[in-house]
Amino acid sequence: MTPHKSPSVIAREALRLLTARKLPPTPLNYQECYNEIAGISNPSFFPEAHLRQIALALSARNPAQQEQLDLLDTAIGKGSWQGVETALIAYNKAGMAAVDTVDFSSESDPHPIDGDFLRKLAQMIESMLPALESDDARFSAQVSSLLQTLRLPSPDIQRAEQDLSSFSHHLSFAAEEQAEIKQALLKLLHLIIENISKLTLADSWLDGQIGALLNAVKPPLTLRRLDDVERRIRDVMVKQEAAKGRSLQAQEEMRRMLGAFIERLASMNDSSSSFQHKIESSARQIEQIDSLEQLAPLLREVIDASRTMADETAMARDQLHSLQLQVQATEAEIAKLHLELHNASASARHDPLTNTLNRKGLDEALAREISAMRRKDTQLSVALLDIDNFKKLNDRLGHDTGDEALLHLVKVVRENLRPQDTLARYGGEEFIILMPDTGLDEAHIAMTRLQRELTKNYFLAGKEKLLITFSAGVALLAREESAADAIRRADQAMYLAKRAGKNRVMVG
Ligand code: GH3
Ligand code: MG
Ligand code: MG
Repeated sequence: MTPHKSPSVIAREALRLLTARKLPPTPLNYQECYNEIAGISNPSFFPEAHLRQIALALSARNPAQQEQLDLLDTAIGKGSWQGVETALIAYNKAGMAAVDTVDFSSESDPHPIDGDFLRKLAQMIESMLPALESDDARFSAQVSSLLQTLRLPSPDIQRAEQDLSSFSHHLSFAAEEQAEIKQALLKLLHLIIENISKLTLADSWLDGQIGALLNAVKPPLTLRRLDDVERRIRDVMVKQEAAKGRSLQAQEEMRRMLGAFIERLASMNDSSSSFQHKIESSARQIEQIDSLEQLAPLLREVIDASRTMADETAMARDQLHSLQLQVQATEAEIAKLHLELHNASASARHDPLTNTLNRKGLDEALAREISAMRRKDTQLSVALLDIDNFKKLNDRLGHDTGDEALLHLVKVVRENLRPQDTLARYGGEEFIILMPDTGLDEAHIAMTRLQRELTKNYFLAGKEKLLITFSAGVALLAREESAADAIRRADQAMYLAKRAGKNRVMVG
């Protein structure tokens, strides 16, 4: 038993003890040292309030955990560390068991999801894939990750749930698209049948259209492709109608000329046979004359008849010659019409030199891409490129070489675009590129890559290696913006690129 000490002595000694034991000078430590020196038993400290707070933050995911939380509550009430420890360990164990059998439809649902169910789900998703015919690489990656997760021995349910929900989101789009494809196909079929009934000209037309249709229905069927074929066929129909009218007119002209020709021949025959008669009768009369005076008028008759005959022959020859010229011209016109018809489907929406889309084709492609962008809530970038110093190239090497340079540019651009991108000739040496699913940065990178490719692929003008460069502007189409406004912004950015020294890409 420690002899009685005054509180100030105890307080001083308590401080010394605190220092000697190198304890942090907290009120609790000080109190313990004080009690020890004063000979007072130390009540063991139990942070009840804190522990209750912790217990409140814990939630039960199953009845076993709830039971342990109740026990924890009792242990805290009793101030029992042992009780707290036992209850927390058991609570944790009960939680682990719950994770093994968790059901994501409801936290308290006692029915666990077994691996067999998930495997069947995976199988079902896999068997649906061919029907979706998706060429979207991101979606394919998502599906294969989902399938992989579902087939794991202990899958990450939360992740699988997320993947499943984005899969079903895509599925709803795909179903919508399939319905639209069906409708577009039906419409196409109607158009074809309508068109066939109007066909009275060369059969190569029919071949061309059937060819285009067959091409369009090759899997994977895309709305974009069907749309393209429909528009081409419509164009062909219009041109064909017009050309058919002109062709029939030309044929009618030929027939009329042929009639005139035959008439001419007949009248030549007539006049030569009347000449013949005249000569024969004159010959007979000459046999019978007995004086020279009688011969003179006969000779005049023969000479007149011969002259008339010669005049008529010359006239007929002239007329026949002009008829022949007319026939040749009409023949050439008919041949031209046939050629025009033959090229109609290719030229309606494509620029004949570069075979890229022309303005009309671009307008349609833009309408299609903008509506897809809005429907799918994706990004669409537009780039406008203009060849640098093209006039100089034309002036130095001639227009034909300029044309070849344009073809070279188009070839390089095509080789480096993604299949879903669209290239159109906007003007002489200006092109537009539509990049669906592409943000501004990516579009900028894509255009810069094109520039790099052009520096790697020289244009060969004869033996001369020429570097073709372009300046470009890119713009991201705002959701409600018109195509014309976005192109205007791209054009302004292109203009800035020219001003900044050409051969560069600017963002508008
Ligand atoms: P900049 O770098 O500022 O764009 O100069 P540029 O010379 O390229 O531009 P400019 O607008 O002065 O000239 C464009 C030239 O492109 C003029 C025209 O003769 C030529 N061009 C336009 N279309 C064709 C085409 O189809 N074939 C050829 N060979 N040349 C074309
Ligand atoms: Mg230009
Ligand atoms: Mg130019």
